[in-house]
Parts: sequence; C-alpha cells; structure tokens
Amino acid sequence: MIYLDNNATTPVAPEVLEAMLPFLKNAFGNPSSAHGAGREVRAAVERSRGQVADLLGAGSSREIVFTSCGTESDNWAIYGAAEANPDKRHIVTTRVEHEAVRKPIARLETKGYRVTWLDVDENGALDLDQLHASLTDDTALVSIMMANNETGVLFPAAEIGEIVKERSNALFHVDGVNAAGKVPVRLKEWNIDLFSISAHKFYGPKGVGALFIREEIVLPSFILGGGQENSRRAGTEAVHQIAGMGKAAEIVADLAPMEKARALRDRLEFAILDGIAYASVNGRSDSSSRLPNTSNISFEGLNGEAIMASLNDAGIYVSTGSACHSTSHEGSSVLQAMNVPYSRAMGSIRFSLGRSNTEAEIDAVVNEVHRITAELRAISAAV
Ligand code: PLP
Repeated sequence: MIYLDNNATTPVAPEVLEAMLPFLKNAFGNPSSAHGAGREVRAAVERSRGQVADLLGAGSSREIVFTSCGTESDNWAIYGAAEANPDKRHIVTTRVEHEAVRKPIARLETKGYRVTWLDVDENGALDLDQLHASLTDDTALVSIMMANNETGVLFPAAEIGEIVKERSNALFHVDGVNAAGKVPVRLKEWNIDLFSISAHKFYGPKGVGALFIREEIVLPSFILGGGQENSRRAGTEAVHQIAGMGKAAEIVADLAPMEKARALRDRLEFAILDGIAYASVNGRSDSSSRLPNTSNISFEGLNGEAIMASLNDAGIYVSTGSACHSTSHEGSSVLQAMNVPYSRAMGSIRFSLGRSNTEAEIDAVVNEVHRITAELRAISAAV
C-alpha cells in the first residue's frame, strides 16, 4: 500500500498510541475529580495542552481548548464570534474554505448576516486589496483558512491578520486544520484571535481537535454543560485522545520530515508534468506557496474518479479533491472558484504526502500514473 492521502487523514504514530494506552487502562480517572486518580489524568491533559501550545507558538497553554474535531473548532469560532459581537452583522470569508467553515457561515447568511465571499485567482491566491476593501466597522468576523486542503495553497495568515486589525475590530479566525504540523505557525507573533486544528491530520487520533483562543478574548461557549476546560467547553475531556494529540503535536513540531516530503512532492510533480501530456498543477506554480506535501494535478479530458479507482487497484491511495466530496460526484468548489475549466477539474487528483513516504514509493506512483493515464487515453481515443 502506498498512502498519498495525508490531507484526508494520517496514521496514528506508534509513539502516539503508546501515549494514549495508559488512559485506556489503569489511568481512567476523571480529570475533574479532586482525588489522586483524577489529578493524575489532569496532569496529562495539561501536559498535552502545553505540547499543542508549543506546536502553534501560542503565548500560553491557557489559550488552547480541546474540542472533538476540527469541524467543532471551526463551528465554535464562527458561531461564538457572531454571538460575541451581536451588533455587528457582516462576515468576511473566502470561496475556498472547507465546509466546516462555509456551512456555518452560510447558515448565518440565511439568518440575515451580510457575507463577503472573497474570490481567488486562477492560481488559488487571494486578492488582499479585495479583503482590505471589504472590512467595515460592522464586520464581526473574518474567517480565512491558512492552507487549502485540496490544492495546498497557502494564504498569508500573518499578513491578513495585520490587514484585519488595521481596518476593523473584527475577530480573525483561521482554519489551520491542514496547516499545523506541515508549516510553521507562530500565533504569539501573529494577529490571529482564533485558530482551529485537528489531531488526525498530524498523526494523532481521530475525534479530538483544539481551538486556540487568544488570551484576552472571551468566546461564548458552544457546548454547554459542566465547567470543563476552564468553563469554556463542557463535557468530560477525552483524556486518551488528548494525550495522543499532545504527543502528536510534539512529534510534528519537528518540521524536518516535511522538507523531505517537499523534495518528494517536487519529484512527483516534475515527473508527471514532464512525462504526461495535458497534465497541469492546480494551485500556485511557485511550489513554496503551497503546503510542502500537496500536489493537485489535473489530467485534462480524463476522469479523476477513474484514475483514482485504477490507482486504488494498484494499492495506491489518493483522492479527487477533498475526501468529503469524493462520494458526491460534484465538481470541487475550490477548483470552480479558481475557474479551472470543467475538462481539467473533473480530471483532478490530489496527492498528499506524509512524513514517511520514500523515493521508491514516489517512483512507483509515477510509473502507475503513466500507465493508467495512457490506458485511459487509449480507451477514450477508441470511443
Ligand atoms: N478544515 C480543513 C481545512 C480540513 O481539511 C478539515 C478536514 O478535512 C476540517 C476542517 C475538518 O476537520 P475534522 O475532520 O477534524 O472535523
């Protein structure tokens, strides 16, 4: 099996599993309990909070609140920001956000919010002048992702934060789910109020995420109940998941393996573009403006689902755009926003590498892509 779908999810690292197991065995206390069994697990939760804060370059571990996933973090940031600023009725976001951002904002739009959906150009880049012009005193929230899950295109989060703060009092939320653990994040230095992450995107378990909430910000709770997480997110903490997330954050804070992934990604991309006619990359051509591990390639005139299925039969796992779309048979809204023509968008494949892919794997993938695309071209020429 060759796994090149790491933007959808990653395997749990062996050290992460080891870090989780004690909390599925003897260390079963409730972190809110005042006795020794509770205090033991409380210490583990706080250790993880520190590890996540370190990964994000946060000023304090108090700024990290554990949630159940990236989607919850995004929903909380959006609904919370709207509730925190009830007099403001304008939201700014982009056309290429993940559904976990797009759908809650679309719901607020149906409830009377005015939403500016910022465009991207054919390379997936934002027009910062359009952002600048959209901000008003009525803007409650700006929500802009850091790294696009489908194309890997990076938005300049720090620069956007400067623009938002210079022009408005809006809260600035960043969906960092596909950025954390792949590129440096420095929240202490950046003007970002809220930042979402999810452990399963960086070798942690599924079902646990976190929201960074800058210290001075009071965000109304989304999940109501007990006083857990400093009365910010109710529900007994999933200690084993949180312990795993902390360990994963510690591992991926070392970005050196991502530089290896970048070299392999460039090798894959070069070999495909050089050797296969009608292949082109979706997203900025300057590969350092993209995540180091991601390459979204269109094979014009071919069907991406057919390529993916043939690769699957060869034991190679990739995706056609976001995993969430892969059963809906609709074109990707990200590629649509980039004005990628239909004949290219429908033939797109996302390759997303991980920390442990090898050169031999990449060369094997290139060979299979050559073989499969040649076969599919021969079939379509014959009909
Ligand atoms: N935001 C982005 C950019 C993502 O890529 C994903 C997952 O695909 C999410 C949010 C949702 O995260 P989770 O799967 O943890 O709910």
